[in-house]
Amino acid sequence: MSAEVSARGVLEVRTYERSQQSIRLVSCPFCTHDFDPHEPRWKHLLDEHDPEDAGLTPAGEIAPGHDAPLFERGGGL
Ligand SMILES: [Zn+2]
Repeated sequence: MSAEVSARGVLEVRTYERSQQSIRLVSCPFCTHDFDPHEPRWKHLLDEHDPEDAGLTPAGEIAPGHDAPLFERGGGL
């Protein structure tokens, strides 16, 4: 089965006939690590990275203002 292959950042997108797609993470979005074809991505992310690498609050901490509304209710319509 032939596929058209394109890259979107760290993702490889294969588009097959009938518009079926498969998307594969080819390198880590947080460091320079390139994944081997069958390397478990989850293991690298679990062993090598922390939530802070993705801009999140460290594990076990609650961000101040976490329960504040995302949007203020305006007068509007
Ligand atoms: Zn990494």
